[in-house]
Amino acid sequence: MHPFTLERPHDLSSALAFGAQAGRNDAPAEYIAGGTDMVQLLQEYVRRPERLVSLAGLLDNRIEAGSQGLRIGAAATMAEVVAHPAVVEQFPIISEALLNSASPQVRNQATIGGNLLQRTRCPYFRDVGYAACNKRAPGSGCSAIGGENRWHAVLGTSDHCIAANASDLAVALIALDASVEVRGADAQRTVPLADFHRLPGDTPHIETVLEPGEVIAAITVSASPVARRSHYLKVRDRASFEFAVVSAAVALDVGGGRIREARVALGGVGTKPWRVPRVEAALAGGSLDPAALRRAASLAAEGAQGRGHNDFKIELIQRAIVRAIETAGARA
Ligand SMILES: Cc1cc2nc3c(=O)[nH]c(=O)nc-3n(C[C@H](O)[C@H](O)[C@H](O)COP(=O)(O)OP(=O)(O)OC[C@H]3O[C@@H](n4cnc5c(N)ncnc54)[C@H](O)[C@@H]3O)c2cc1C
Ligand code: SF4
Repeated sequence: MHPFTLERPHDLSSALAFGAQAGRNDAPAEYIAGGTDMVQLLQEYVRRPERLVSLAGLLDNRIEAGSQGLRIGAAATMAEVVAHPAVVEQFPIISEALLNSASPQVRNQATIGGNLLQRTRCPYFRDVGYAACNKRAPGSGCSAIGGENRWHAVLGTSDHCIAANASDLAVALIALDASVEVRGADAQRTVPLADFHRLPGDTPHIETVLEPGEVIAAITVSASPVARRSHYLKVRDRASFEFAVVSAAVALDVGGGRIREARVALGGVGTKPWRVPRVEAALAGGSLDPAALRRAASLAAEGAQGRGHNDFKIELIQRAIVRAIETAGARA
């Protein structure tokens, strides 16, 4: 592990001030919350900050549900959100996405803010033995393009990076039009989650719209008729403790046997959590007839680009969407 200074500020203002300061060699300070991702990256020399700023005890961890919707403080743990009665009853897609993430031990420690900012599981990013990784070492190339890329994205990729975003929660939240409350040293702002993660383009090392020193303070989800009839389907290589090969988050408003509104988002296949508006438009006003669902789901493949080992995902996302809609549609 590269040596670093650990700051443990007593209040958020001090943490934000530390976070905004560059350390020696102009290396920016980095935050640590539950540490379940950050500590692995430090141990493997993937991250080498001069200064690490602990957010422990500084951010809101309340989960509040009311007629306006849901607000989750960034310091709430995955386990706390999974078990919250209002989340289970009114926003099942969120609890299902979290329950299908990681393990009970990780969920007890990991925070919601950290979940949205976890780094990709691309094995070349996480192993410094591979020199070429534009996300870890900008300008060095990409080992996954032309390498082993079964786990990688087929949507939103660039010639510089094809790494998939790893968060299950982000996929569920994006289907619900969630927003992120952001705090900086001088200001706070609200960003739609759909605009929070960036496409890799030619700067894959810049993953979100957060400015240096800013933190995620909370997530908000507005009340909506689609939230209750929602489902998160995760396809993975083993039944637990595994990241998504493909996932589909679906939220429906159904009446008289017809779909009034559908929200569909995908995981495991996008370089960021991926919403498919063309599929949603094709579903709206239609029935739950399997052939109609398959026709709509086929639109998810538009623009998808496999790189060899991950070609199978293009068919799999369509099947996952159909199955997730059938499950959500069957819910009362
Ligand atoms: C074995 C294992 C299996 C896993 N499986 C899954 C899975 O199936 N699905 C899934 O979605 N996830 C999975 N995860 C990832 C896990 O959900 C994340 O590691 C966890 O949510 C990160 O939260 P944390 O609080 O520990 O963040 P940390 O590790 O402390 O931080 C992660 C990143 O977020 C930044 N950060 C944290 N909080 C804030 C904040 N409030 N504001 C600004 N920056 C912040 C840190 O600087 C760091 O860059 C797995 C992790 C492990 C270790
Ligand atoms: S896909 Fe992205 S993270 Fe993986 S090796 Fe290529 S540049 Fe690095």
